[in-house]
Amino acid sequence: MLTFAAKQAGMRVVILDSDPDCSAAQAADSSIVAEYSDKKAIEELARRSDVLTYEFENVDLEALEDVSDKVLIPQGTELLRITKDRLREKTFLKEHGLQVAPFAAVSCEGDLVSAIEEIGYPSVLKTCEGGYDGKSQLVLHTREDLKKADELLEQGRCILEGWVEFSMECSVMVARNMDGAISVFPVSENIHRNQILHESIVPARMSGELQSNAKKMAEKIANSLNLCGILGVEMFVGSDGRLYVNELAPRPHNSGHYSIEACNFSQFAVHNRAICNWPMPKIDLLSPVVMVNILGQHVDGCRKLVLKKPQWHFHDYGKGEIRIDRKMGHVTILTDDIEKTLAEVEDTSVWD
Ligand code: AMP
Repeated sequence: MLTFAAKQAGMRVVILDSDPDCSAAQAADSSIVAEYSDKKAIEELARRSDVLTYEFENVDLEALEDVSDKVLIPQGTELLRITKDRLREKTFLKEHGLQVAPFAAVSCEGDLVSAIEEIGYPSVLKTCEGGYDGKSQLVLHTREDLKKADELLEQGRCILEGWVEFSMECSVMVARNMDGAISVFPVSENIHRNQILHESIVPARMSGELQSNAKKMAEKIANSLNLCGILGVEMFVGSDGRLYVNELAPRPHNSGHYSIEACNFSQFAVHNRAICNWPMPKIDLLSPVVMVNILGQHVDGCRKLVLKKPQWHFHDYGKGEIRIDRKMGHVTILTDDIEKTLAEVEDTSVWD
């Protein structure tokens, strides 16, 4: 989707991925087939590029640092260093005055016991690196659950977070260019199933004041990080009515996909503008919208739905292997009645 937006603006795109038929390779001008940690391949990418960008936080930080004097990497490596590690990220947010769940570093069983004493139950243990969509996480309700923690602790450093009682999950996409100009997108209300994003609803069904606070927090984070490019800020609306930052994604984010059809500029177009230091546009929501993810188990159903829903925008990422819970595409539905559209999605039975 980044490549589509770049092509629309007349840019030439070279991508690096280990899969020669990955989604981006199907759209780019050319691709380098290599692992994200392959230093030679990253050097080649740098040599062939004017601007280098990443849209995945598990790229190799060292390999990127190595080429940072050979090519412009507007997002920089510091953003990646912070957001790649949950502990570093939460510490950064806290130090900059943003509300986050209580947390503690956990490297061994002893740490876990003292962290639980401090934070209590329920809480969630997460590996600092590498996890996504609820993977490498363990929710702890009682002492009994501590026995299951070994597997995570063996994977590396962890963080224990207090469980935030929330009434809603939401996110804000924010982009900033090299001159410090900012574009901020409308707040998206996010509904997860099995810790994987299921639906995004925009405008989020929350007060205007809360929406404005969420956007202000995203801008504050963008400035604190000296952000260049786009960033997804995931938040909880706590049952106490306060906003808690859960996670940062230093790239376009699934919950911002709605912007392709529903906004005057998509999150992808805006990211490309930001890293090329073009002026940042004011973002307008053109229509209320519901975005629904298509996971592996929904593909068959959606292929039939394409023929029944002429107004729905179906996106297929062209991924080869269909697997349960793998994100294969999404549907964007522009609407003037969110509740009716949510019911219509339910009625299809595709997402049961
Ligand atoms: P994450 O990978 O950190 O985004 O976590 C995946 C999902 O788990 C989130 O979208 C929440 O639904 C849930 N979750 C994670 N951490 C917490 C927390 N500290 N409190 C409440 N829910 C959480």
